[in-house]
Order: sequence, then structure tokens, then C-alpha cells
Amino acid sequence: MVDLLIVGQGLAGSVLAFRALQRGCSVCVVDNNHASAASLVAAGMFNPMSFRSIVDVWNADVHHEFMLDFFSDAEQVLGVKLIYSLPLLKIMPDEGFKHRWNAKAVAGNPRWIKSTTDHSEIPNQYGIGEVNGCGYVDLPVFLSSMKHYLSAKNALVNHQFDVEEVVTHSDHISWKQIVAKRIVHCSGAVASYLPNLPIIPNKGEVLTVQAPQGVRNAIVNNGKWLMPHHSGVFRLGATYERPPFDDRPVMQHRDELIQKVRENYQGDLEVLKHEAGIRPTTPDRKPICGSIGEHQYVCNGLGTRGVLIVAHTVHCLLDFLLHDHPLPREIDVKRFTEK
Ligand SMILES: Cc1cc2nc3c(=O)[nH]c(=O)nc-3n(C[C@H](O)[C@H](O)[C@H](O)COP(=O)(O)OP(=O)(O)OC[C@H]3O[C@@H](n4cnc5c(N)ncnc54)[C@H](O)[C@@H]3O)c2cc1C
Repeated sequence: MVDLLIVGQGLAGSVLAFRALQRGCSVCVVDNNHASAASLVAAGMFNPMSFRSIVDVWNADVHHEFMLDFFSDAEQVLGVKLIYSLPLLKIMPDEGFKHRWNAKAVAGNPRWIKSTTDHSEIPNQYGIGEVNGCGYVDLPVFLSSMKHYLSAKNALVNHQFDVEEVVTHSDHISWKQIVAKRIVHCSGAVASYLPNLPIIPNKGEVLTVQAPQGVRNAIVNNGKWLMPHHSGVFRLGATYERPPFDDRPVMQHRDELIQKVRENYQGDLEVLKHEAGIRPTTPDRKPICGSIGEHQYVCNGLGTRGVLIVAHTVHCLLDFLLHDHPLPREIDVKRFTEK
């Protein structure tokens, strides 16, 4: 019998499996070969700021610290480079925004931002503000390294999971030949097979482009972003779309992304790849963790900032599962199921 049967080896399931193993649990992860993994499409960017009101995002300090701890540990154990720290250059959209930005930078709150400068290498009208604490995590490398790591421990099953095949016993569950004390569903935006989970699928599209004259040592954001990946190759994104949508990349969205970035980048630009994925978002933009039935649990709703929030979310879930610590109300699934 394993302690945890984890459904999904995306970002949520991989981080959960890694930390659960470190805490001495036995795990089995089942994944359908990433048939619907948002984590493989994501740019993996982390940014502790919200530009809408120029404030820290929710729980930024704690999430940022847990994120760096987690991916540093994963780098060591998996023997791969995952974290790429980069400043983010925010292009001021107008005088009013610039004024508010500089007032906050002078007050030192949020602590991540610096006052605007001209940055003559990037065409701009109102100046550019720098944000620290940003960068990206190489999610395809993380997911494939975790795949090997789990396979080497005989802890990965490549199969489609069907909740109808779960048999519930008094102190455990079984699915096919696997017997487990608990199931944790980390299946991302396709979690609609679980009733009453308020997951709102949000489609995103992102491009991989060759941009030889692009800024190589910073992420440039003008509402959309151009993020250096390697030797002149950049990620460019992203779009946000609520249902109804079809899952494929849309040509018009590709053109809109390029048009926006072109406002501040006039060099050569060739599209190498155009991908779409579905983010698992929630009504209050916070993740969803906790009990959803006998021996059944969920870790989902990582939304648009999965990289930043996943490590702390998983930490709280494991404290809850292994030590009966209450989950913070703001991430507990009960906030939706028990009013
Ligand atoms: C275009 C785009 C750009 C993004 N950019 C960023 C970014 O820059 N920074 C950031 O932090 N976040 C970003 N995100 C959001 C990020 O991708 C998500 O927060 C995160 O990846 C969600 O991870 P997850 O593990 O919950 O879901 P997923 O990555 O979708 O993983 C779920 C896994 O479960 C498997 N699965 C599902 N159902 C079953 C089943 N029945 N049987 C077996 N296996 C199953 C799937 O195939 C998949 O492998 C972006 C998302 C998109 C779409």
C-alpha cells in the first residue's frame, strides 16, 4: 500500500510527489503522458508584483521564499538547472502610471521595484521601471527530470485515470492494482471529472520566437512580455481567454501578441512555435486544497502564477495530510463547499 496516489504529473503533482517523498511518504503518480499539461506550455515566469495596482501579489514574500527553496532543492536532487533569475523591465504606459510607480518606489513598497530610468536601448515614451525577484523556472526540464526520478523509484504509472474505477474501502482506496491510503487529484484544468470543484479553465497562448536584437538579460513587459530563453530565442506571451474556446492556437491571437510586443521591439522576429494550454483558475484566484471525499483530496487551481505559489501550497497540504494541521482558510476547498 502507498501513502499517496497522485493523479497528474504537472507542476502540482510533481512538487507534491517530490516533497512527499522527502517527508518519508511512499507515492505513486499516475499521468496520461501530459495529454493536457498546462505546465508544459507555460513560460514558467515568476513575478511577485501585480501591475494593475502596483502592489505585491497575494502572500508574495512567503511564496517567493518557498518557491526558491523548493526549486533549489529540486536542482540539487535532480541534478539540473531550473531557476533563471532575471530582472523585469516594466515599460510605463503613461505619465500617471509612472508617477504612481515612482511614488511607490521611493516609499520602498513594494520592495521589489526601482524608480524609472530611460533605458535608451528599448524604445519607450514614459520610462522603464525595474522589478527584482523575477525570473523563470524551466518547467519542461523540471517535469521531464521528475518523470525520470519517479520512474527510477517505480513510482510513475503512464495511464489515463478514471475516477469511476476507484474503489473505496474503510481505511484505503484502490484503483486498478494500486492500493493507497489517499488519492490527491492534481489533474489541472480538466478536473471537471470531480463534481463541485470551482475550477475555471482559462486558455492561454504563448509563442517561442527568434528575436536576435531582443534584450537578453531581462524580461521586458509592456502589457505582454518578451522573456529571454536561450541564444536569441524568447518566449512571448500571453493571452487570457475564458470559455467557450477551442483548445487550439488561434492565428489572430498570435498576431495580436506580436503587434503588442512590436510597440517596443523593432528588430527581426520569427515565430518558431505557437502553443496553447489551459490554466486551472478559481473564482478568487487562490489555489484549492483539501478533502473532497473519503480518502480523496485535491491540489489544484494554481491559476496564472503556479510557479510562485505551488511550493507553499504543497507545504500546507502535506502538513494537513500528515500532521492534521488545519489548511489556511484562503486555500481550503471548504471555502467553496461550506459557506
Ligand atoms: C500559455 C500559458 C502560459 C503560462 N505561463 C505561466 C507562467 O509564466 N508562470 C506561471 O507561474 N504559470 C504560468 N501558467 C500557468 C501554469 O501553467 C499553471 O499554473 C500550472 O502549470 C498548473 O499546473 P497543474 O499541475 O495544476 O496542471 P497541469 O500542468 O495541467 O498538469 C495536470 C497533469 O495531469 C494530467 N492529467 C489530467 N487528467 C488526467 C487523468 N484523468 N489521468 C491521467 N493524467 C491526467 C495532465 O495530462 C497533466 O500532465 C501558464 C499557463 C498557460 C496555459
